[in-house]
Amino acid sequence: MPKFAILGSGMAGFGAAHRLHAEGIRPTLYEMKSHHGGHTASHRFAEGFVLDEGPHISFTKNERLKDLFAESVEQEYEESQARVNNYWRGHWIDHPAQCNLHGVPDDLKVQIICDLAKQQQKETGEIENYEQWLRASFGDTFAETFPMEYTKKYHTTAACNLSTDWIGPRVYQASLEEVVRGAVSANAPGVHYITQFRYPKQGGFVSFLKSFLEQADLKLEHKLKRLDPRLKTLTFENGVTESYEHVASSIPLPELVPMIEGVPREVVEAAQKLACSEVVVVSVGIDRPDPLDAHWSYFYDADICFTRLSTPHLQSRENVPAGHACLMAECYYSDKYRPLDCQPSDCIERVVADLRRVGVIRPEDNVVFTTAMHLKYANVIFDLDRAKALEIVHGFLEEIKVAYCGRYGMWAYIWTDQSFLSGEKAAEQILQHAGTSASS
Ligand SMILES: Cc1cc2nc3c(=O)[nH]c(=O)nc-3n(C[C@H](O)[C@H](O)[C@H](O)COP(=O)(O)OP(=O)(O)OC[C@H]3O[C@@H](n4cnc5c(N)ncnc54)[C@H](O)[C@@H]3O)c2cc1C
Repeated sequence: MPKFAILGSGMAGFGAAHRLHAEGIRPTLYEMKSHHGGHTASHRFAEGFVLDEGPHISFTKNERLKDLFAESVEQEYEESQARVNNYWRGHWIDHPAQCNLHGVPDDLKVQIICDLAKQQQKETGEIENYEQWLRASFGDTFAETFPMEYTKKYHTTAACNLSTDWIGPRVYQASLEEVVRGAVSANAPGVHYITQFRYPKQGGFVSFLKSFLEQADLKLEHKLKRLDPRLKTLTFENGVTESYEHVASSIPLPELVPMIEGVPREVVEAAQKLACSEVVVVSVGIDRPDPLDAHWSYFYDADICFTRLSTPHLQSRENVPAGHACLMAECYYSDKYRPLDCQPSDCIERVVADLRRVGVIRPEDNVVFTTAMHLKYANVIFDLDRAKALEIVHGFLEEIKVAYCGRYGMWAYIWTDQSFLSGEKAAEQILQHAGTSASS
């Protein structure tokens, strides 16, 4: 039996393992950490809180994956109708803001509508970056007030530095009629690309991976440090070296590429150009069960340190002790555009202060638990360097027959389901390699 190696035990790694398992192959999954799950890992704290590594919900529309994840938790999941809102300068606005202008001051409302009407009379020239796309889609006032501000916080750089090939359904383009209706009435229909979502009743998001664990040999605390494509060996920081016949990797490309024996300099340079945000996820437990009636909220103001706020207790009540709530705040940085300027734990104080300032934590609430998690890789930044650099890196990996998958192997803005599917696809590629080498 040829040796199938998978690097990384997140959604992509398990997707690859699942596909190989279907062919009667038991791959080895190498993971640097002492637990599996990657970004979908969940942690249970002594104080009674269960926290994911950043807020995670499953909103896949893929029926096969829905069934697989449901079977993994033996049908024990919560199904919720997503409630989403926005906070801007003291106003709570339904989501998406462009369809719910009834929540903003009148002068701003009028200015946004006039601008959008004007914009629609204009010829749109060639769109070269995200800022131009936003101005053309929403008019200047809305673009400058909401998404351009949000972009600086979430993607850590200005919209003019981003391409448009990641947008897809993520940013809703409302018609003038929808905008006007939403300005005069509070009954705008929901148009978010996430409507319903699922979440395990017990154990946090990682429970969705439970049934896949038996489909591979999982080797934890195996941090790859060298991949030799000629000798077909993997060397790990714990001193172990193993040979492989076929390999799929979900390790972030800027980390993987320099580990490869004989990699050309231009490929290393291209990998260095791939930008990604990092995130400090601060979770705050309070002794009141209902501080916010939303599964998540977007925060636009530059002087609020977090960009998104989620409520793990509304994903599953089992995530918090009875009578409590948890607020999970995401603060974004990036090496390339906005380096982290403090220790991750320093973010806790800032987040708690801002939660009090916006009124989500009230003076009478007691903060009973806080923690900060630092995720070095969060969202791929689709800056103008990405496409060319990625072509070079992916081309090289294809040459040396290292299949890539997952958010940081594809280097794309993909969700858990898409990461799983990309793992399955990478497995198919290595099965093809295996077929070719067996017949030659
Ligand atoms: C804050 C945040 C919130 C999100 N919310 C959602 C959501 O609500 N719903 C959703 O569908 N998606 C969400 N996502 C996206 C989702 O997390 C990813 O799409 C998915 O988890 C990526 O899985 P992956 O296997 O590709 O990568 P990862 O989960 O990062 O897995 C890669 C694995 O490789 C391991 N690794 C790295 N280097 C080495 C090495 N040298 N040697 C060995 N192992 C190594 C890592 O430890 C990790 O386990 C969110 C992402 C973030 C950042």
